[in-house]
Amino acid sequence: MKKYDVAIIGAGPAGIMASIIASRNGKRVVLIEKNHQVGRKLLSTGNGRCNLTNRNITMDRYHGATPAFIETVISQFDQYATMEFFQNLGLVLKEEDNGRIFPRTNQASSVVEILQQSLSRSNVDVLLESQVTGIERSAAWKISLANGRQVVSDQLIIATGGRAAHQLGSTGDGLYWSKKLGHSLTAIYAALVPIETVEQWPKDIQGVKVDARVWATSNNKKISEGAGDLLFTSYGVSGPAVMAQAGNIAPLLKTSQVVLHIDLFPDMTEGQLDQIVLHILQNSGKTTVKDSLVGLLPNSMITLILKFSGIGELKQAGAIPERKRLDIVRILKDITLTVSKLRPLKEAQVTSGGLNAEEINARSLQSKIVKGLYFAGEIIDVDGDSGGFNLQWAWSSGYVAGMLAK
Ligand SMILES: Cc1cc2nc3c(=O)[nH]c(=O)nc-3n(C[C@H](O)[C@H](O)[C@H](O)COP(=O)(O)OP(=O)(O)OC[C@H]3O[C@@H](n4cnc5c(N)ncnc54)[C@H](O)[C@@H]3O)c2cc1C
Repeated sequence: MKKYDVAIIGAGPAGIMASIIASRNGKRVVLIEKNHQVGRKLLSTGNGRCNLTNRNITMDRYHGATPAFIETVISQFDQYATMEFFQNLGLVLKEEDNGRIFPRTNQASSVVEILQQSLSRSNVDVLLESQVTGIERSAAWKISLANGRQVVSDQLIIATGGRAAHQLGSTGDGLYWSKKLGHSLTAIYAALVPIETVEQWPKDIQGVKVDARVWATSNNKKISEGAGDLLFTSYGVSGPAVMAQAGNIAPLLKTSQVVLHIDLFPDMTEGQLDQIVLHILQNSGKTTVKDSLVGLLPNSMITLILKFSGIGELKQAGAIPERKRLDIVRILKDITLTVSKLRPLKEAQVTSGGLNAEEINARSLQSKIVKGLYFAGEIIDVDGDSGGFNLQWAWSSGYVAGMLAK
């Protein structure tokens, strides 16, 4: 039986990067993946466009392990190293708003194909449709596959991901094996996930997308804040403006009520917005208030806002008293929704929580508990904000684990 220097379980971004780096350093590498292709989840990233890193990587965009742990890993292979790595493979990149980096093709499949080509050039043995069912450590690592085969290696890198979007492969197997080997886990939640609300009215305007500022409060204290697209859905709210706050909200839901506040006009003060509404109403005379507001809000939202302000839709615009106009303005600047729960891990982009980083050496990502065992990617208790931060963690940690430093 062929014995490898290193076996890597999981061909997501972290496992692929670890394989390429280990192989470039002269190791005999096997990469084991249960899906029929490498990088299955990568194909779905960035709405199929793959936001592969961010020019502005800072530690405050990450959660879970300590900033020192995360920085020690990322500084060994940062966003500039990542961009250079892909450019050297022939992938042309482009930068969009807020430093987000994408392939110029706008296709995540370009990233996966480039990595596939690199894996074959590096002579990595890639075993597809090969689900690992168990790992065992004696003189070497023995890795059992569902198809009855066994793989033997001196060192092992587990890069099986967290538990988010498990329909794409990451079912948490690596977390289970690591626990059996003595590692502890931090609490696991869905992060970057849509939010369900107690109120049912988002269903009435489902599909409406707005550019908003959204902040969450618990016991009247602000716990998080976000901005950008907000999508109303049949169950509540989705989109970058709220999904990024799920990680902060999740731990509080058991003990307190969390309220989302939505500012539909974040680029204006209440006074500026009032001037606009006043102008519209004054110039609309006998037009119904509903018709007068069509240039301000999507149609279905007008009905809702008028209902919340207690104003009949058919009332003449010019007859709205100041008190009622100010009600409209206040609601547009702060509509509230009560969080009932987060959508399931299946719909999350990333897992908050994972392997306790205190039991992993930050310089090498080798286990402090089991020699010859390394970790990379989302399996570790590190999650980042939306914007390329999670893939940067996968590339950086894959690189560090792939170096197989002692
Ligand atoms: C819809 C969506 C969009 C996203 N968009 C972005 C984005 O644009 N930018 C960004 O930075 N992040 C994004 N993310 C997050 C990012 O994709 C993940 O953080 C990243 O893929 C984690 O990499 P990983 O290699 O650790 O794990 P994964 O990508 O989850 O890969 C783990 C691999 O291990 C395999 N595996 C698991 N168990 C076994 C087993 N028993 N045997 C064999 N193989 C196994 C799985 O099949 C899988 O291929 C997105 C996530 C989702 C779900």
